[in-house]
Amino acid sequence: MTAAATATPRARAALAALLALPLLALAPLVHARWQAADHLTTAVGVVALLGAAVPFLVRWARGHLQTLSYGVASTLWGAGVTVAGLWPHATLGPVRLTHLALTAAILGMLGLGVQHVLAARSGSDDPPLLHDALVLGSALAVAGWEVVNRGGLHGDTAWHATTLLLVLAASSHLGTATALGIEHTRLRRTAVATGVMTAATAVAAVAPGEHTTHVAITVALLAGFTAAIGAPTTAARHSGVSSARAARRVEIASLVPGPVLFCDIALMVVSPRLDPVLFGLYLWVLLAFTARHVVTARAVDRSTARLTFQALHDDLTGLGNRAALHHALTGPDRDHSLVLLKLVGLDDVNDVLGVATGDAVIRAAADQVRRTADDRGATAHRTAGDEIAVLLPGGTDEALHLARALVDGVADVPATVPGAGRFPLSAVAGVAPSPAPRPGDEPGDPMTALLHADIALRDARLAGPGHTSTYSGAVAAAHARRSLLREQLTSAVRHGSVDVHYQPIVSFRTGRVEKFEALARWEDPLLGRINPAEFIAVAEESNLVVALGEHVLRSAVRRAADAGVFRAGAGLTVNVSVVQLQSPGFTDTVHDVLTRHRVPAHLLTLELTESVFLDADSPAERVVTELAGLGCTIAIDDFGTGYSAFGYLDRLPVHVLKIDRSLTSSLTHAGHGRSIVTCVVDLATRLGLSVVVEGVETEEQADACRAMNAPLGQGWLYSPAVPCTDLPEQLARTYPVPRLVAPGA
Ligand code: C2E
Ligand code: CA
Ligand code: CA
Repeated sequence: MTAAATATPRARAALAALLALPLLALAPLVHARWQAADHLTTAVGVVALLGAAVPFLVRWARGHLQTLSYGVASTLWGAGVTVAGLWPHATLGPVRLTHLALTAAILGMLGLGVQHVLAARSGSDDPPLLHDALVLGSALAVAGWEVVNRGGLHGDTAWHATTLLLVLAASSHLGTATALGIEHTRLRRTAVATGVMTAATAVAAVAPGEHTTHVAITVALLAGFTAAIGAPTTAARHSGVSSARAARRVEIASLVPGPVLFCDIALMVVSPRLDPVLFGLYLWVLLAFTARHVVTARAVDRSTARLTFQALHDDLTGLGNRAALHHALTGPDRDHSLVLLKLVGLDDVNDVLGVATGDAVIRAAADQVRRTADDRGATAHRTAGDEIAVLLPGGTDEALHLARALVDGVADVPATVPGAGRFPLSAVAGVAPSPAPRPGDEPGDPMTALLHADIALRDARLAGPGHTSTYSGAVAAAHARRSLLREQLTSAVRHGSVDVHYQPIVSFRTGRVEKFEALARWEDPLLGRINPAEFIAVAEESNLVVALGEHVLRSAVRRAADAGVFRAGAGLTVNVSVVQLQSPGFTDTVHDVLTRHRVPAHLLTLELTESVFLDADSPAERVVTELAGLGCTIAIDDFGTGYSAFGYLDRLPVHVLKIDRSLTSSLTHAGHGRSIVTCVVDLATRLGLSVVVEGVETEEQADACRAMNAPLGQGWLYSPAVPCTDLPEQLARTYPVPRLVAPGA
């Protein structure tokens, strides 16, 4: 079976033809033997061969592997009966030819039965397998009866053997009926029909006599026929669209009644009480069953194809799905690479325009990806709502090329969807190799490539939309560190062991500390001191930043209040991430903190980055308005590094611009740095905003700031962030101011 499983349909067809060759060899023999033959038996054998063995073999040739065993068994059976018919009296040495032929037929059935029992034992939980085993057991019993009958046993012995075997057949039918009824409610009609067959066979066994036997066997046959047409149709109707496995069940169910009919026909043929009318009836049943089988097989083929398609494709986009990718990644015979593409910006489309438009955008993006992938012989699979995996032959260099083309192509997608044009769509992509297994390799998990591409994708996401990244040892190590960090940080946040330090914000004019910026500090027992930029980024990747931010806000305000910061009229400024701002109840938390510690709202500044204001009418903007409504001061952090689309300054309540330290460091260098900072300070003054210059490290920088009338500065020139115990000292302190612009000057 293993070799056949890997053979092409053409090779299987050739093998099937080979298996059928012995049948052709029988033709001249049939002719030569016709006069001496037992015509009816021969005819039944030939009909069995043509009516059952050939359809099974043809189906097997078309790729229905499990029907091979049926084909072989039917061939042995049909050939056996034919030979028995052609040489009714011949002997081979001491053995009668009839015995040999019928033994071959029985062996065929026996082999089939054994195969089914083995399949059932090997863990398949397919109830039809049990059903088949029972039916075949009955076929075996009747075949045995035939041997006894044809083998020339006479008198009481023959009669007892016959009765015994008929009872065996009846109980086997009964077992089948019960198994069907219990295990498959949907096959109940078949179960009832098989039950009738049981009763009829039992009558033939216990009430022998020409008429009873004929009537009983006719009833058994008609019941068998009903079972034959009942099984596939009801099973097909109830199997629905769930899976290809359901289709396989239908297929098996449709094959089962065949052997049942064989054995009953055989019963009739060998009966010494044969009459032609009954024989015509049996023949009609066999032909009808065969026709029925062909029709069912066609329907099953079609539904199998449909179910297979559905099982392997994504409904929305028509791309392959995760299962198809798994299939494609299993045992590729050459090196491949995987590109995992994630769409960024779909949430906004879904939120504002609705899911239908979101779906249209995904479809358009999938089309775009498919076209680009097709051009390079790659296949695309949708692995998650906003993720598409593209598998292409070759190394990661080509894949990275493709990844960049895919990421670039996504930007054009919204324009093709009515209404979505104003929403920017971008993407990030991760690339990983999917090497063919080398000789001697342990078989690995085929989805490893997807896992690696996902790690590379996360790496690309850190760099921001539009980026791509290739999986490597370093990328994997960074990912592992982030995972460990996330785990440790989660417990640190839960135990409140993340600390807050305070960096003074100093007036350039007076040298007095006007505010403190609260900055999170974390020292992990395992990993040591971690840079805030690193752990804040990790926290932002998950929702952890919400709990972390709330902890920093609450403890910063509490300790500052305890240290008398607000009583002294100084302010506190706290960093707020976008995720935090979008989390429900943020305004309430701020309100609660202010009232609990009796802090005048204007002394609390919330620092946001410009990314909050990226899309107009985003929910974050409403929250900013609420916070300003409480009386809080709103500052834009890192101003001059982001998008700097000034529109929001007009639209929203912003009070402070914090000039990023990259601009500060360019103040005293050659170039336009100084002019840019001057312009920003000017802009802020005209808009009535305050300015804090960040990262002031040298006297020259402070002088330059003073010269352009910037009011406040923050940086190592004055002080790094200090623990809360240093707050009173900082409040009491005046930083030196050069005489040129001394206080009051
Ligand atoms: P940021 O908001 O721009 O904070 C200022 C950063 O500049 C701080 O880094 C500070 O220590 C550093 N800094 C101050 N003066 C100087 C200077 O003169 N020269 C230089 N080179 N650097 C200076 P830190 O504490 O490492 O924080 C890094 C970033 O982490 C912060 O940048 C902020 O974005 C984020 N962060 C820190 N604490 C929190 C927090 O509680 N919540 C949130 N959401 N983000 C936080
Ligand atoms: Ca800040
Ligand atoms: Ca900053």
